[in-house]
Amino acid sequence: MSPFRLEVVTAEEELYAGDVDILIAPGIDGQLAILPSHAPLLTQLAPGLLQFRTGGEEEDLAVSGGFLEVLRNKAVVLADAAERAEDIDLDRAETAMKRAQERVASHDSDVDLERAMAQLARARTRVGLARRRRRPERVQAP
Ligand code: ATP
Repeated sequence: MSPFRLEVVTAEEELYAGDVDILIAPGIDGQLAILPSHAPLLTQLAPGLLQFRTGGEEEDLAVSGGFLEVLRNKAVVLADAAERAEDIDLDRAETAMKRAQERVASHDSDVDLERAMAQLARARTRVGLARRRRRPERVQAP
């Protein structure tokens, strides 16, 4: 199957523009797999990993939500925020995760629980992607 075009943008930058063979996206109602010639689609995204494969190479981006549009063999992700693994500040994401966990667990009536849950989901995605990248290579058995 011939590849399709993918563009990933935020209000600030373009993170990716190129041809891909498959896109896995965190749809608000569950994971979506987009292949060439996919039917037209417009959906909201949840915080999670955007995964795509191009010529055997897999790339992962952390997205914090946004929209995905698929139209005429082109997929456009308009993300609220998105980062490549190497651009994630792991300390910052871990601090954000801890802060969000404390907010979610607190019984403070001033805490906006929905907002805290969204912060937690964003931070978890970033921590997961950054940690996976930093994991040391497996040592080859002799
Ligand atoms: P924090 O509480 O650490 O600011 P947040 O989830 O509230 O986290 P966002 O509002 O989603 O942050 O993002 C604001 C901007 O900061 C975006 O441009 C996003 O890409 C960037 N950003 C957020 N967290 C990180 C991180 N851990 N590493 C690198 N960039 C980040």
